Amino acid sequence: MAEILVLVDHADGAVRKPALELLTLARRIGEPSAVVLGAGEAAASIAATAGEYGAATVYVADGAEFTDQLVVPKVDALTQLAKEKGAAAVLVTSSGEGKEIAARVALRLGSGLITDAVELEAGENGPVATQSVFAASYQVRSTVSHGVPVITVKPNSAAPEAAPAAGTVENVAVAFTGNAAKVVSRTPRVSTGRPELTESAIVVSGGRGVGAAEGFAVVEKLADSLGAAVGASRAAVDAGWYPHANQVGQTGKQVSPQLYVAAGISGAIQHRAGMQTSKTIVAVNKDAEAPIFDLVDYGVVGDLFEVLPQLTDEIGAR
Ligand code: FAD
Repeated sequence: MAEILVLVDHADGAVRKPALELLTLARRIGEPSAVVLGAGEAAASIAATAGEYGAATVYVADGAEFTDQLVVPKVDALTQLAKEKGAAAVLVTSSGEGKEIAARVALRLGSGLITDAVELEAGENGPVATQSVFAASYQVRSTVSHGVPVITVKPNSAAPEAAPAAGTVENVAVAFTGNAAKVVSRTPRVSTGRPELTESAIVVSGGRGVGAAEGFAVVEKLADSLGAAVGASRAAVDAGWYPHANQVGQTGKQVSPQLYVAAGISGAIQHRAGMQTSKTIVAVNKDAEAPIFDLVDYGVVGDLFEVLPQLTDEIGAR
């Protein structure tokens, strides 16, 4: 069966959810093999999790290179494995780092690259990836016609499904190419205790309608009641009400959660570009003509300062 290499993202010794989604999607196009890099002592438990989610083989490589340098050691490892194992495809999460790794691997392999896929299926000529393009106005299905397909997949594109497999661990000695940029220091992001925006299954976003930085309190309360991440429109970010790291849209982050709640957001095309692939969209806006209502599954015409607290209370009561 076609071997699909899946780069397993991990943090703090645990597998990150997008990697489980990749393993789930990989099973649709072949037999997944997990690639676990620079996990140190956590490698065994990460490998076990990868096995639970369908990895027949788990390639483990360790070394200070993976933590002391930027992406090149990971590129070395993935390229080497893709060549040695004759992989049928390489899957990487669509994060900033993931896309850089994927692009470099594709270049080294002389292959085609597809980024930001939201769906994968098996096709006659290899994996078929669905992308959402032109501010999510169109869905494009594409295959790679040259070399080993390298595909990045957006978080939340599939619900992780366990499917226990052998998960046989194979240690790999990577021939590092060196010449990599070194990490000088790391500044941990101040944790809000909320899920990472691009990975969260639920996102609650506020826009100019929130009116002020303090107005985001109602957005945060609803988000916390749902275990959601908080997003913001550019108008809210430009006004200084919420950090740019939380901006959703063309010049912010792309999110694709199971549920997206837009409060006081008009639905400009540049905002849609970052959230239109969300599975269920709910909008709260006091203007019944707001363009956001053209794409919602559920719309509430009303004042967000009345509607959001009621929603929060209702969820808290359940
Ligand atoms: P508005 O368009 O002002 O809408 C506010 C909405 O709140 C209105 O619909 C109003 O009816 C409603 N409202 C007001 N008070 C209440 C209330 N009390 N209760 C309920 N509803 C209320 N935008 C992004 O979001 N992300 C991007 O990444 C992005 N990138 C851009 C890139 C470029 C090159 C350009 C040109 C623009 C970009 N924009 C982006 C900006 C975008 O065009 C819009 O200006 C922006 O999305 C508007 O934000 P908003 O919906 O919060 O504000």
